[in-house]
Amino acid sequence: MQSLSNRKKVVSNKKMTFLEKIYLPAIFGGMWITFKHLFRKNNTLRYPEHTREFAPVYRGQHVLKRDEEGRENCTACGLCAVACPAEAITMVAAERERGEEKLYREEKYAASYEINMLRCIFCGLCEEACPKEAVFLTDRIVPTNFERDSFVYGKDRLVEDINDRIDITKRQHTGKRTEK
Ligand code: SF4
Ligand code: SF4
Repeated sequence: MQSLSNRKKVVSNKKMTFLEKIYLPAIFGGMWITFKHLFRKNNTLRYPEHTREFAPVYRGQHVLKRDEEGRENCTACGLCAVACPAEAITMVAAERERGEEKLYREEKYAASYEINMLRCIFCGLCEEACPKEAVFLTDRIVPTNFERDSFVYGKDRLVEDINDRIDITKRQHTGKRTEK
């Protein structure tokens, strides 16, 4: 039958020649290919000592942002969790008490907020869904670990340090958000 691709090869049972029987030409041919690669540019890097430069739109570990006054932006509306296709986000909402106005921007806040980095596919839909500009993906890499539990990131690792703000403007200005 005629094959669709027309690349079908008919296997022959012809006898091997003397050179084919001793395999040496094939072995030296393979070694020659390996030898040529010694002088080619190395495509691998000695990670973690050396790292590649990431694209400006690279989506890495999340951050929960604070506003200019240092208050947490997140109001625990749950839209990011609903938008997440990997069901990686969970949270518990709480009402802001009197005297906590300097901690939380809205009357409702996330008492607990967790992202399972093993489930996350870094699609950025949580960032798109957030109406409060609270959750963003950064250019930071989620570090490796041997324990699965350590990949569930709580507020202690997600909320940005007030004294060490995380700049997310580079991604925002390079990505499609600015094309609107
Ligand atoms: S980046 Fe995508 S998969 Fe990861 S938490 Fe956000 S919505 Fe879920
Ligand atoms: S991060 Fe944004 S979308 Fe998610 S719960 Fe907080 S305010 Fe809502």
